Amino acid sequence: MRKETFLTKEKAEEIAAQFPTPFHVYDEKGIRDNLTAIKKAFAWNKGFREYFAVKANPNPFLIRIMKEYGCGCDCSSYTELMLAERLSLPGEAIMFSSNDTPAEEYAYALKLGAVINLDDLTHIDFLEKICGAEGFPKTISCRFNPGGLFEMSNGIMDNPGDSKYGMTKDQLFEAFRILKTKGVEHFGIHAFLASNTVTNEYYPKLAGILFSLAKDISETLNVHISFINLSGGVGIAYQPGQEANDILEIGKGVEEQYRSILEPAGMGDVAIYTEMGRFVTGPYGALVTRAIHEKHIYKEYIGCDACAVNLMRPAMYGAYHHITVLGKENAPCDHVYDVTGSLCENNDKFAIDRSLPEIGIGDLLYIHDAGAHGYAMGYNYNGKLKCAEILLKQDGSFEMIRRAETPADYFATFDCFPEFKDLG
Ligand SMILES: *Cc1c(COP(=O)(O)O)cnc(C)c1O
Repeated sequence: MRKETFLTKEKAEEIAAQFPTPFHVYDEKGIRDNLTAIKKAFAWNKGFREYFAVKANPNPFLIRIMKEYGCGCDCSSYTELMLAERLSLPGEAIMFSSNDTPAEEYAYALKLGAVINLDDLTHIDFLEKICGAEGFPKTISCRFNPGGLFEMSNGIMDNPGDSKYGMTKDQLFEAFRILKTKGVEHFGIHAFLASNTVTNEYYPKLAGILFSLAKDISETLNVHISFINLSGGVGIAYQPGQEANDILEIGKGVEEQYRSILEPAGMGDVAIYTEMGRFVTGPYGALVTRAIHEKHIYKEYIGCDACAVNLMRPAMYGAYHHITVLGKENAPCDHVYDVTGSLCENNDKFAIDRSLPEIGIGDLLYIHDAGAHGYAMGYNYNGKLKCAEILLKQDGSFEMIRRAETPADYFATFDCFPEFKDLG
């Protein structure tokens, strides 16, 4: 089955003439249209803000585009906070949702005035020491983990009870009680219960749980809940033929829960926050790589010039990424290949037993849906260098938004070893 590409073979070759394969390429128009739709889906909520999960795609050029649509950043590390700072995001537009957090990262988040989302009850004491004489910030969020299984009607299931994040319900109440005595005035509740949900049901269902919880906490402890953070987990259709999420439907579903639970409780001022990553950029990025070898042993292999270093999801969790052979979109898929990278690891395969058109050496392969958790997960195993990132602009022109790594980048941390100085 076919899946559309945002790039033609001609355009891909044009880019490749300037920036050799492999490269990641992003579709500016797709990203902008999607951001417009997200904004529209939650326009009913006055305080709505999407805090883009920086870990999904930490490219400042892309995050600068999101900023135009009112997005903030969801950060979970020192360098992610730096990125938000360099993009001049104000503190209230930076969410710091971390776990197992080092003290210096909390200190930095405090300095930026970021909204801190506490992952655990014990972090209250931990953070208090760092706050020092200044005391706690006036606004704090806590992360909830309901435990058990989280199941949706289409059979999608995740296992919060087995995840390291968040606090139990009792701990959450306890945290709010303590934080109130420490002078916190505005509270947020956060939860992330299922990953890559390709169903319009996830956010509304999560919203229902968190809204009821918020009402309960607000009534029991008499605290002001100022926002509820639905976090990430809204998925994308990696498989061809899979029906994609409809963000307008999702927004409507959350609105219904809001009107039926929060408004009657007199909590119609609660802002809705999201921390979507995958849904924002995933479908609007592709990894373009060239077939450089074919190999016939017990199976048929196509070797390409990208490897798991450029896109780790298939190797890491057997994730499906659709592949289109550019220029052969309409050719019959009458060959079965394993499409491999060059790492000395047998899991370095972008596809296993995949039916594809006959691939010739030099063909360009377009690996779909690499725009989130793609480049971002890159690493340097086998001394492989990370590739460039290109932005395909709305007028069809393109721009490099991150250069490819060079050997000098790779050896940069050996500047303590004389032979690796001056690599240029
Ligand atoms: C990973 C993550 C996200 C983004 O998840 P997606 O599935 O990419 O939307 C949001 N919030 C937190 C805390 C995360 O860890």
